[in-house]
Amino acid sequence: MSEILGKFQADSYAFLAVAPAQNWIGGEWREASTGERAEVINPRYGRAMSSTPMSAAADVDAAVSAAAAAWVEWRAWPMRERAHVFYRLRDLMNAERESLAWLVSHENGKVYAQALAEVDKAIECVEFGCSLPNMAGGPQLEVSRGVHCQLVHEPLGVVAGVTPFNFPLMVPLWMIPQAIVSGNCFVLKASERVPLSTIRLAELFEQAGLPKGVFNLVHGGKASVEALCDHPQIRALAFVGSTPVAKLVYGRAAAAGKAALCLGGAKNHLIVVPDADLELTAENVVASFTGCSGQRCMAAANLVAVGDVDDIIAAIAERAAKLVPGSDHGAITSAAAAERIRGYIDAAEQSGAKVLVDGRQKRGEEAGGYWLGATVLDGVPADSPAAREEIFGPVLSIIRVPTLEAAIAFENASPYGNASSIYTTSGHIAREVMGRVEAGMCGVNIGVPVPREPFGFGGWNDSKFGHGDITGWDGFRFWTRPRKITTKWALQKDWTWMS
Ligand code: NAD
Repeated sequence: MSEILGKFQADSYAFLAVAPAQNWIGGEWREASTGERAEVINPRYGRAMSSTPMSAAADVDAAVSAAAAAWVEWRAWPMRERAHVFYRLRDLMNAERESLAWLVSHENGKVYAQALAEVDKAIECVEFGCSLPNMAGGPQLEVSRGVHCQLVHEPLGVVAGVTPFNFPLMVPLWMIPQAIVSGNCFVLKASERVPLSTIRLAELFEQAGLPKGVFNLVHGGKASVEALCDHPQIRALAFVGSTPVAKLVYGRAAAAGKAALCLGGAKNHLIVVPDADLELTAENVVASFTGCSGQRCMAAANLVAVGDVDDIIAAIAERAAKLVPGSDHGAITSAAAAERIRGYIDAAEQSGAKVLVDGRQKRGEEAGGYWLGATVLDGVPADSPAAREEIFGPVLSIIRVPTLEAAIAFENASPYGNASSIYTTSGHIAREVMGRVEAGMCGVNIGVPVPREPFGFGGWNDSKFGHGDITGWDGFRFWTRPRKITTKWALQKDWTWMS
């Protein structure tokens, strides 16, 4: 068994350096052809804990060749046997749930409890893959006398995924179970900021008995993504990241003839009306905009306050002010990101917003880390960058509107369409909002309305380019192609137009 990382030994936030990351191609650890490396920074300390290869087209080509070679065998395995590998993967992940969470926490900067929640959600995605053999049988029907039609979902061949920094383990596992259980071979390009969790995943796959070449890792940045988009042997590519890159990748992959599904950024709105439950709303809103330090595509970004909800806003501010960076929420991914987020707060203040809770000077205990405390901005002008653009930090912009109509109109003017929630005790208001907001994932009295398996995850508008959702059943459809087989094994010889 070849391991370069092994079980991660941390059981606290204490700084720990690990072996340099490598590409995983055809069941071997390899350097990138460029010889170039980037540092992998632990954001809590602002210090390199490892480094990662920066691959180029030659490395992508090597991974695709290994995947194509493995596909000859892998596609012939019955789906149930392919799923058995994922049963074993699930057991292995459960057995080292804590150490996986520490690894996620160290490379990403999120606090341990939130990293553990990510690992649990990643395991849930693996479980969905395990369940596919029970669901993936296509229908068959006698469509005419003696004539049967049958639908078979067949794998595409070599497929690829590109993932962001904010969920190093979970987002890759949004894609991999459906893709591999359905018979494809996979090339993953994780974020160059967080390659380590996927290295451990490759090691666990090997222990679980996945044949060499079925899962491959090519680390790097833009050059490796462009090579994945262009490679003629890759049949489908899924991407999760920011909207400008999602748009570029979607266009480039589609131009090369691939099926493409590219999830982008977000600006999620929570609408709060005066009949909302104060305790539930305040608790929920704070958890939503500060969880993972606001660095998740489902985080609350804008609170659209309808009429007089001052008591609820006061309760939100009171709770947010008590949060301690480093224990209640983690670090920001990079110094540049922390600077960018501070810039949004400064600009909002200058444009007339009131800073109800100011996280600009707050920091965790560790020296050198990238920190920012929870920040609540009230009276944010509706046309300002803090109300319109993705900040991706622990910042809540409160936009005051007089009516529910105005709240819906404001929300629907956003180009994004990932998530939206309404806080109310009125079924009528909830129904009205859920029926009219431009968002793919909606919640009633819930701050992070992530559709759990088997429901699909995916937004609308500029939050997603391509058709269908990335998780759940849609994911299975994305990574397969439907073959329709029509047969006639009957002795009767009547003539029909199908003869
Ligand atoms: P990012 O777009 O900077 O990077 C995502 C991936 O694209 C990385 O693997 C990166 O190496 C690669 N990449 C970066 N620039 C590229 C370029 N010019 N050409 C080709 N590839 C490039 O995103 P990030 O900062 O890692 O992640 C945060 C973003 O991801 C946020 O906008 C967040 O909303 C979004 N996100 C969306 C979802 C969703 O489900 N919609 C989920 C998680 C994160």
